[in-house]
Amino acid sequence: MRPIDFRSDTVTRPSPAMRRAMADAEVGDDVWGDDPTVSKLQAVAAERFGFEASLFFPSGTQSNLAAMLTWCQRGDEVLLGVEAHTFIHEGGGAAALGSIHSHALQNEADGSIDAALVARSIKPKDFHFARTRLLALENTLDGKVVPQAKLEAACVVAKQHGLNTHLDGARFMNAVVKTGQSAAALAKPFDSLSLCLSKGLGAPVGSLLFGSRDFIEGARRWRKVLGGGMRQVGILAAAGLYALEHNVERLAEDHANAARLGALLEGVDGLTVQPVQTNMVWLEVSPRVAPGFVQRLASRGVLASGEARVRFVTHLDVSRADVEHAATVIRECASETSR
Ligand SMILES: *Cc1c(COP(=O)(O)O)cnc(C)c1O
Repeated sequence: MRPIDFRSDTVTRPSPAMRRAMADAEVGDDVWGDDPTVSKLQAVAAERFGFEASLFFPSGTQSNLAAMLTWCQRGDEVLLGVEAHTFIHEGGGAAALGSIHSHALQNEADGSIDAALVARSIKPKDFHFARTRLLALENTLDGKVVPQAKLEAACVVAKQHGLNTHLDGARFMNAVVKTGQSAAALAKPFDSLSLCLSKGLGAPVGSLLFGSRDFIEGARRWRKVLGGGMRQVGILAAAGLYALEHNVERLAEDHANAARLGALLEGVDGLTVQPVQTNMVWLEVSPRVAPGFVQRLASRGVLASGEARVRFVTHLDVSRADVEHAATVIRECASETSR
């Protein structure tokens, strides 16, 4: 039996219909701007998100990095959250490849960064200081939909000081579906936005970076420099188009499945369930249960990640029946400790 894989929403496999769309895609050399399917994806997505242009990338890490390289020069500073993917999980690429100074600000419990903290973190214009150029925020963050009013307030302060604003929206569509707002409405405060097609949207590869035409031309240059210029990549863009057309509204099912899993685990001795907002369930695991907990789960066909804080991510390859079954396994594994 195939394990039920809650480690991430990146583990999804392209469906037969998505694979057909990929096989049938018209292609050309996209470095030359000749791939009609990539061009269509970029145009359709830009329109939907309310930006002038967008650009297809092999990964979200490269898309975020290209954005930072486009907005910041050597020695410039980006403000980002201490809990942000860009700060923790992207290999320090902004520093390694851009000589960009990362200034990490405390995230609030709801995932936001307080606008007053942003204001006092922007360095004065004085040759002693790095030049603060960019505010980079994230939504959703660890499955939390960051309140739009707080994102806006932080962006207003940034703009008042002449900064640009970027959103790492790897799971932005989860926020769109959860809030019922349009992508364009939630994207409005930002000068650039990065979206992953390869997570809950179910494409095998790919991210989109959004911005003005000028910004995207700058990012296109950095994408080439980073080795992300791809050739007959319409095969992958077709998966992205399919994902945007068919796999957005259904994220609500993932949210309902996560909520169901959270509810089934309430009150289990040794487990504390964090409030569930989108497609992630976070369990605080007591020191008695934690050692070997995820290994015990894995041996019974339920894959999750973490130790003292264990994460379960729902996605289009996890069904309601999988969730019900997994909850039983999780309850049983919490009552056995390794000895
Ligand atoms: C996954 C993710 C990214 C980028 O991921 P890639 O694996 O490089 O595509 C960026 N930000 C967040 C918040 C993510 O979850």
